Amino acid sequence: MSQQAAGPAASATVVVLGAGINGAALARELLLSGVSVAVVDAGDIASGATAWSTRLVHGGLRYLEYGEVALVRESLVERDRLTRLAPHLVKPLEFYLPVETRLGGLGAAAARLVGLESLARRWRGSRGRGCWTVGIGLTLYDLLSVGSRWPWHRLVRAGAAGMPQVDAGRFPFAAVYADAQMLFPERFTVELLVDARRIAAESAAQTVRPSVMQPAAQFAVFTHHATRLLPDGRLRIEPVGRRRDGATAVELQPAAIINATGAWVDRTLDGLLPGAGERRLIGGTKGSHLVLAAPALRAAIGDRGVYAEAADGRPVFVLPFGERLVLVGTTDIPFDGDPAAARTDDDEITYLLAAVARIFPAAAADRETVVQHYCGVRPLPSAGQGSGAPGSITRRHMLVRHPAAGVPFWSIVGGKLTTCRSLAEAAAAEVLGCLGLSVLATSRERPLPGSCAGPARAAAESAAAMHAEAAGLPVDRARRVARATVALFGSRGPEICAAMRPADAADRLLIHGTDLPLAAVWFCVREEWAVSLDDLIERRLMLAFDAGLTRAAIEEVAEALVQMEMLPRELLAEEVAACIGRLRKRCGKIVDSGV
Ligand SMILES: Cc1cc2nc3c(=O)[nH]c(=O)nc-3n(C[C@H](O)[C@H](O)[C@H](O)COP(=O)(O)OP(=O)(O)OC[C@H]3O[C@@H](n4cnc5c(N)ncnc54)[C@H](O)[C@@H]3O)c2cc1C
Repeated sequence: MSQQAAGPAASATVVVLGAGINGAALARELLLSGVSVAVVDAGDIASGATAWSTRLVHGGLRYLEYGEVALVRESLVERDRLTRLAPHLVKPLEFYLPVETRLGGLGAAAARLVGLESLARRWRGSRGRGCWTVGIGLTLYDLLSVGSRWPWHRLVRAGAAGMPQVDAGRFPFAAVYADAQMLFPERFTVELLVDARRIAAESAAQTVRPSVMQPAAQFAVFTHHATRLLPDGRLRIEPVGRRRDGATAVELQPAAIINATGAWVDRTLDGLLPGAGERRLIGGTKGSHLVLAAPALRAAIGDRGVYAEAADGRPVFVLPFGERLVLVGTTDIPFDGDPAAARTDDDEITYLLAAVARIFPAAAADRETVVQHYCGVRPLPSAGQGSGAPGSITRRHMLVRHPAAGVPFWSIVGGKLTTCRSLAEAAAAEVLGCLGLSVLATSRERPLPGSCAGPARAAAESAAAMHAEAAGLPVDRARRVARATVALFGSRGPEICAAMRPADAADRLLIHGTDLPLAAVWFCVREEWAVSLDDLIERRLMLAFDAGLTRAAIEEVAEALVQMEMLPRELLAEEVAACIGRLRKRCGKIVDSGV
């Protein structure tokens, strides 16, 4: 079952609103305890902050200055866990933190630690944190990572072999430490839901909690659907927007509702429980990123991430983004409009490019190298914003109960990609407790469906290559296709390549100008709830981040949707134009008209 109603057991379904990383992780966690779940998203899976983040799985070194020791410890444990459970999507990344002085920043860090943010800003000075400040922070970071196998940090001099080529005159020292990168949180979130569906299937085979959810836990995902609470407590779920597949409305009697709509939490409450949300829960800040096609800068950072300070002391990441691109982020600007309307503005582009130029004057990137940008709103709690600087707002997550609602109803506030699983575990325990149920299992040791690394990944690539060759691709191309497919789908990659059918020309097997099989489109529609061209281009196949994406490729994907009767042929041209227009308007990305 995928997009349909949850069947007879739907009468006792827990409804999760929002299919971002937190909603998806929570759905999976609840299913592990045998509870039926319906996930509803007004847009697509991972179409909110999850897709617009810096894509790091990290402890959050700088949160130590705000005394967030428990959050950093939780994040470090989860960082470790996610690299084990989803090694195909979450990979360790070594970071290089350039430093200008030996002693700078000690006073400011101490002031911040005791909550004196304005004093900290006055004492910050113009040369940022020095070796001692960074060294103390990283030593604590290492100590909080205890139990993991991650290497301890080390201090090096600028120009050390293999290190990023930052301005050695300005930054004579650097600290080297490890964190992790989740290149595509969009795919991670989809896999959480794929796993949730597997758990439901497992529970159908062997009923986990027969007395509560007869006959077995069920699972449904409704993307591009709006919700309305009816006076009798039922929830009406209606298709909206870009769905062209004939989906119809359904009604559920929710046993509980969890509002996991991130930066939209207050808006969702206003819509479902008018008057209940008089206290604002979210005080979001907007953060922008640039994607650069700048070969000199990409060469200068090598395979490490660089974590530095902009001229105003704000943290800036300069990260490898695939083999050729560089990701730079981010800004942190209070934002209280509709999160869907947040856009990167010109000043932010100037600011981020200036930060890069300050760190890498010899490899400074100009505006021409900005192939796209993106922007998201952090779902930060509105409470606890006392000290003023957006960076000082806590990144902790919390579950807020709404007692006035007719059904048990909670909102999730805050959170990070990194802590999605621990947030889900804690939230599921609270929801289950309130429903009089106990936790039967957790996701602590449960790998994601595509999980593979080392020899298992090599085996997946060689199986995928074998299928691609059998379909008629030359050996080298087959290997590239296998690598690209496994990079996105992990151990599920060979299944996609096995679905490639022999053809006369390689072009008919692959999406134009890419190494991805056209069969991946069918797979994402059949297995991963993709229903629109945008879903496929932006959040399943990740082609939106392919610097060489062409109109021809988008047309081929759209044509596949037509063949699957997901898109009427007469709307094909309009859909393609809308997809290209959205990439241009939202992300500044110009799609090559190439054929
Ligand atoms: C600029 C920036 C950088 C970040 N960098 C990092 C980082 O490097 N590492 C890290 O760990 N974290 C990072 N974060 C934080 C992290 O991205 C978010 O905390 C996380 O993605 C929030 O996930 P979510 O599921 O709660 O919300 P979202 O991903 O925003 O999902 C909410 C979903 O709710 C849906 N929705 C909205 N209204 C409704 C409705 N009425 N009904 C149903 N559905 C609805 C939306 O379509 C959306 O899909 C960053 C965030 C930002 C913005």
